[in-house]
Amino acid sequence: MKSSERLETKVIHAGDPHPRILGAVSMPVFQSSIYEYSGETSYHDLKYIRLNNTPNHQALHRKLASLEGAEDALVTGSGMAAISTALLSVLSSGDHLLAQDCLYGGTHEFIARDLKSFGVSFDFIDADKPASWGKKIRRNTKAIYVETMTNPLLQVGDLETVARFAKKRGLVSLIDNTSASPVNFRPAGRGFDLSLHSATKYLNGHSDIVAGAVIGSAALVERVTHRLNHLGGSLDPHACFLLDRGIKTLAVRMERQNRTALDLARFLERQPKVARVNYPGLESHPRHHRARELFDGFGGLLSFELKGGLKAAERFMRRVRLPAVAPSFGGVESLVTRPATTSHSGMPVKERRKLGIADGLVLVSVGLEAAEDVLADFEQALAAA
Ligand code: PLP
Repeated sequence: MKSSERLETKVIHAGDPHPRILGAVSMPVFQSSIYEYSGETSYHDLKYIRLNNTPNHQALHRKLASLEGAEDALVTGSGMAAISTALLSVLSSGDHLLAQDCLYGGTHEFIARDLKSFGVSFDFIDADKPASWGKKIRRNTKAIYVETMTNPLLQVGDLETVARFAKKRGLVSLIDNTSASPVNFRPAGRGFDLSLHSATKYLNGHSDIVAGAVIGSAALVERVTHRLNHLGGSLDPHACFLLDRGIKTLAVRMERQNRTALDLARFLERQPKVARVNYPGLESHPRHHRARELFDGFGGLLSFELKGGLKAAERFMRRVRLPAVAPSFGGVESLVTRPATTSHSGMPVKERRKLGIADGLVLVSVGLEAAEDVLADFEQALAAA
């Protein structure tokens, strides 16, 4: 696939085998765990599903690398497999990590509890305050970790300075790009070493598989692949097929989700019962100008608080009809959830509140329903809140 082609074309064609396999226009599923030995000299080159190198894996790797303009990619059994394996590939016992303070709850817990038990120390940083990072860096700091738009507050850190800071100090820069998807942000072009995804979300887009991705330089992706080969968090070929199929509609889905989320954010901001709306596409977002400069769209996720706090949020959630009340995001169906009870319930309450995640904060993942229907449903649910 020529790199000059647009992303809308790449999602359909990038990574396809040439010539097509027996003429099949859709990539067939290679549901075989083992393959005949053909003289491979390295363990990692033996063809085997756990070694992440079946034809379905390889097609996806080529597609994902192409979408973010990176050298290589790897799919994993979940977003957490991508995140944990990438971190365990660039950090060893005795190393230190700088990580953004407000992260997806699972990542936050992995860094604070699991990595610590492997002898990796960490400091949380405010990704919006570069002047404070130098004070936290140590001789043994090896990596820096951020999210493109944080879940659930949709903060946009000083991402370009993160990548520059890492280069200058010899750190590996990692970014969880799930919330933006490759349609809205491509980290390699902004200097990041590794981009990570919960492919469960926008990349697959249909809430029917769990998957992850690691995208970046060939050398780093190879390091992560070898670690994943041992840790075992591989994606099954049938899930590879579903993910490949989901990605084909990523560009059209994301375009619609960007538009509906902006409409909904603007609508919510006008409602007298709403205290605060977090969406980088709003002029009122503290980093709106940065988001406009970095992103091609602002994504399908937004969060808001009601003036009536937790009680009003609970009334709203009981009344809303169209979205399912369920955690996660990025699917064709709209979802609402309260992060304090789902994605961030593992975080100590004091810490959660200090970060600004109020008990009554509602996270919305906008789906592909008609914007008019979503807005009308929110209007009737707000009337009862
Ligand atoms: N990263 C972000 C930003 C997420 O929101 C999630 C899950 O919600 C993950 C990673 C973990 O992904 P998975 O559930 O696919 O393991």
